[in-house]
Amino acid sequence: MEAAATTGVASVVLTSDTAPTKVHGKDVSVFYGEKQALFDVNLEIEANRVTSLIGPSGCGKSTFLRCLNRMNDTISICRVTGDILLDETNIYDREIDVVELRARVGMVFQKPNPFPKSIYENVAYGPKIHGMSHGKSDLDEIVHSSLRRAGLWNEVKDRLNEPGTGLSGGQQQRLCIARAIATKPEVLLMDEPCSALDPIATAVIEELIDELRENFTIVIVTHSMQQAARVSQKTAFFHLGKLIEEGKTEDIFTNPKNKQTQDYITGRIG
Ligand code: ADP
Ligand code: MG
Repeated sequence: MEAAATTGVASVVLTSDTAPTKVHGKDVSVFYGEKQALFDVNLEIEANRVTSLIGPSGCGKSTFLRCLNRMNDTISICRVTGDILLDETNIYDREIDVVELRARVGMVFQKPNPFPKSIYENVAYGPKIHGMSHGKSDLDEIVHSSLRRAGLWNEVKDRLNEPGTGLSGGQQQRLCIARAIATKPEVLLMDEPCSALDPIATAVIEELIDELRENFTIVIVTHSMQQAARVSQKTAFFHLGKLIEEGKTEDIFTNPKNKQTQDYITGRIG
């Protein structure tokens, strides 16, 4: 600011505390039939940050995550109210094409779920159905760079035509991440992506998440507070379908404002 004052040039100082909002949930409520699972959740997800959703089992973390790319649409009894803005667009507007939306907001699930196809085809699938590639060499480039970004290239470059299901669990999950990023999404949703993995494979994925946030906005559900503390810059704590508290990860873990958050992070509820 001093330099700006002396030169007279206006400057915007982007501190590590400020980032534009990428996704904005406004008064989001979710019902499964008669049962309400989420209550008026308001949450802003910042661009190129990792936001973790934490809280006891059944508190609505996955339900909220699934609102962000309308995966709840696939559950017939599920009804969502409120607004979710992706940049300026309300993703629940009638004219939204959900297939296109899910290319912009990709998802990685708890259990690695590669298609029963080759490693290459797993990653090529999305770009193909979305018509994102022009010819074989273009598609090759997308597949190779997605595998590189997912930290899997060196392990699979000599066996791209072998089945994805033949990889180890941790490799399969990185293959699913490669598949998700192949369509160049803006947001990447991850629902407990390490819960089926051993500690070494988990550490690899956590490191990868940190690299990916340079290019993507990431929302991760985790039941592990240690994981939330390691990978995320923002943390949102849910309890019984309500967003209790959200903020900078270090504040949530070292200086929570709410008694329920405090009880959860100290292990008194959970
Ligand atoms: P979390 O991911 O935090 O464990 P969920 O979002 O899965 O929690 O669940 C929140 C609540 O919604 C729970 O009470 C759960 O039983 C209910 N629920 C989740 N999915 C469904 C579904 N497909 N049908 C009916 N109820 C569901
Ligand atoms: Mg869940």
